[in-house]
Amino acid sequence: MNYTEERSKAGEYLRLALNYIAKYNLSANPVNYTVWYEYVSGKNMKLKRAIDHSLDDTKSLNDNNVEGLYQKYVADGDRIIVSKLLTQISLMLKDITNHVSETDGDLTGHGKTLGDLAVRIGEVHDYNDIKNIVDQMIVETKALVKSGKRLQTRMKVSSDDLKQLHQELEKSQQEAQTDALTTLINRRGLEKRLELERIRARQNGSSFSIILIDIDHFKRVNDTFGHLVGDSILRSIAKLLKSHLRKNDLAARYGGEEFLILLPETEIKGAEAVGQKFRKALSTKEWKLKKTGESMGRITVSMGIALYKFNEPEESLIKRVDDALYLAKNNGRDRIVTQEEL
Ligand code: GH3
Ligand code: MG
Ligand code: MG
Repeated sequence: MNYTEERSKAGEYLRLALNYIAKYNLSANPVNYTVWYEYVSGKNMKLKRAIDHSLDDTKSLNDNNVEGLYQKYVADGDRIIVSKLLTQISLMLKDITNHVSETDGDLTGHGKTLGDLAVRIGEVHDYNDIKNIVDQMIVETKALVKSGKRLQTRMKVSSDDLKQLHQELEKSQQEAQTDALTTLINRRGLEKRLELERIRARQNGSSFSIILIDIDHFKRVNDTFGHLVGDSILRSIAKLLKSHLRKNDLAARYGGEEFLILLPETEIKGAEAVGQKFRKALSTKEWKLKKTGESMGRITVSMGIALYKFNEPEESLIKRVDDALYLAKNNGRDRIVTQEEL
């Protein structure tokens, strides 16, 4: 799928998407924007069917669930943000190169490099490619400004645009990798971090552990106290979890009521110690309804722990940690099982 609709159509889709975002009281973040853009453009049939199915039950359309739809049906959601930025960059490049050729005749030197960059835009795949192009654009436009006074004002405008674009890029990237409910990194952000961690482990001959956490009987909590209370519990658990981690550890919301922790340079024993501390802190906490003070009893979690094996693919690590979690559930919940017990 691509986003090369003519501009008027794209504008119309954008308006429609924003209408839905407003209608369902969603945040205007890149994730929602992407999902609704795909929905109104009617190109992603699976997504459309899933949304149409939930439209009857408007409560099911909150930021959180839309994020779920995004993970499930859009997957490579970088595309729309990338495409939006690419349109801006293309226009900017065109403007610069046109101006250079009007004033200086043939495109040579820096002007030509900018023209070449415009060609490279057709080969962009992700944020990093764009970042590289924008970085190079900044270098080239600066050089252009130096080489010809006549271009100065025009180039200054473009440099400012580029700077703004850069900031927008950083912000979108961060938002697209953050879970709206808990503010933890989301699954997509986690996947990028896991990839980096695997590269680092390969380079340094080091290793890392992961802990997969799943809340016990969380459905019951929702059924008894309602989804909103469930959401607020998810937020509190995320906060408690974070407070048990070191600066370099990473906590992600892996799925609905599942979290994944990445512990760099940590063996299983170390990971187990972190997990037990958190497990105990959580299982001894008594939960109360904010409004009435009524007790909700205790909430527990089960965990699986796995250690990254040199050079193994991500799926095999995840499979191991998932198996360990499954065993923890089967053995009675509120406990940790490590890969050594599998
Ligand atoms: P188990 O101990 O086997 O894990 O039982 P469970 O009920 O936690 O497991 P199950 O996977 O059957 O259900 C997970 C439930 O988590 C389903 C859903 O009600 C709830 N859940 C998932 N995501 C969210 C969310 O974002 N907010 C709220 N409130 N609940 C969620
Ligand atoms: Mg679960
Ligand atoms: Mg559960």
